Amino acid sequence: MPRIPADEILIAGHWPRGRGAPVRTVDPADGTLLATLHAASVDDVEEAARAAAEAAAAPAWRDLLPHERARLLHRIGDLIEEHADDLSALQTADTGKTLAETRALALSAAATFRYTAAALETAEDALTPSRGGYVTMSVHEPIGVVGAINPWNSPIASDAQKVAPALAAGNAVLLKPAEWTPLVSLAFGRLVHRALTEAGLPAALLSVLPGKGSVVGDAIVRHPLVARIGFTGGTGTGRAIARTAADKLVPASLELGGKSPTIVRPDADVEQALAGVLFGIFSSSGQSCIAGSRLFVHSSLYDSFVGELVERVRRLRVGPGTSPGTQVGPLVHHRHRDAVAAYVDLAREEGGRVLCGGAVPEGEEYAEGAYYLPTVIDGLPNSARTCQEEIFGPVLVALPYDDEDELVARANATDYGLACGIWTRDARAAWRLARRIDAGTVWINTYKQFSISTPFGGMKDSGLGTEKGRDLIRAYQRQKSLYWGTDTAPLPWAN
Ligand code: NAD
Repeated sequence: MPRIPADEILIAGHWPRGRGAPVRTVDPADGTLLATLHAASVDDVEEAARAAAEAAAAPAWRDLLPHERARLLHRIGDLIEEHADDLSALQTADTGKTLAETRALALSAAATFRYTAAALETAEDALTPSRGGYVTMSVHEPIGVVGAINPWNSPIASDAQKVAPALAAGNAVLLKPAEWTPLVSLAFGRLVHRALTEAGLPAALLSVLPGKGSVVGDAIVRHPLVARIGFTGGTGTGRAIARTAADKLVPASLELGGKSPTIVRPDADVEQALAGVLFGIFSSSGQSCIAGSRLFVHSSLYDSFVGELVERVRRLRVGPGTSPGTQVGPLVHHRHRDAVAAYVDLAREEGGRVLCGGAVPEGEEYAEGAYYLPTVIDGLPNSARTCQEEIFGPVLVALPYDDEDELVARANATDYGLACGIWTRDARAAWRLARRIDAGTVWINTYKQFSISTPFGGMKDSGLGTEKGRDLIRAYQRQKSLYWGTDTAPLPWAN
């Protein structure tokens, strides 16, 4: 059993009980209550935002040199790594994910802080080409207070992807975890708080404000002192946040949903493709924005490939995230499991054939958990709702294709454009397809691999802006241009 944090949230460097409504957080493996936590209130957001603005402007923070700020980021990375086991146990309890995955997520959060520190220490401001009697420079400055709003599927990794560059840029952050999974973000907040106080820096540089999106998230986005939003979550929420940001004229980056195609060409290495397709959709129980949830297989191998895939899906080990052999853990919440089940019922109504899964697993050990069997469906047209809407669960729709133009048209016939997988031995075909598919990320003969050094973002309804990569800090800064006159004579106009 992980150590459950007390009923305290991080507001402006203090740990009071939230003044908002109580939030119950449940272990989806067995339905037990993990904690009842009081959410932040709108007044708590107000207090955190004011203190954050003061902290961001404090000379102790504002005047810190890049290598000094990088030292703080390294310390946070070290603390996360030291506490990786606790963070992992907590995240498994709160989200249902396997311990192997949550440990990897904690370590990736540590690596994000270290990479960001390196990017900060090596970032250069540009001397722009001179076009007159002056020298011009472009410099980057902090924005002030930043709102970071995250979903429930990979809390600590998505927290790090926003908090690390936002702090590196010299800002203060209001972090809003999802209502269902506040625990690991609060534990992360403890570590950042410790690193800030050890370094003698203003503790109000990070607040962690759990609660409902429509109350706490909305208060953060609307707050006049919040001058930039980093959002990861559903497309509908992202659109609403973008509207508010537009009214305020502040930047918002949006990492949104997906319905990503995976393509198996006739020349694919079938063993590799089978393993990749399984991992792409069923790891994390399909609760991943980049899940390869639409499978296009060339009709020449469709029956044999899908037949073998279904056999292997039936053998996937479903169980609690704490069991070492588990491949498919419970879904994050019973309500989410019911929403996934409703999509499979819809597929049946739409005329789809459920080839495997399509039900809650039977057995005492699953009775109280939020489990759903890994499911493969076929026989649906690409236009069916099940083929178009993000299910965010262990549900794969399989579709045969015949020629490349038709494949590209169907793969792109979706509102989303987040990711794509291509399985082929033909490098030229992979190149052609990779350039033609609407997706922010394309994996060729691999899937769901991630590197902090590679930018990530979506096209179309999958988002706006990117996270990660060499320029990750720039997204949290304002650019300013300086002109330095070099002539000794006065400007001629006044003569
Ligand atoms: P969600 O949009 O319901 O919630 C995301 C966050 O926004 C939560 O913290 C929520 O409380 C908050 N929120 C909700 N309404 C708000 C409002 N009106 N104002 C401000 N904040 C508000 O998403 P979810 O169900 O938590 O997560 C699943 C979604 O996240 C999926 O669509 C998935 O694809 C997406 N996602 C995208 C990425 C990516 O990088 N592209 C990564 C992970 C998840």
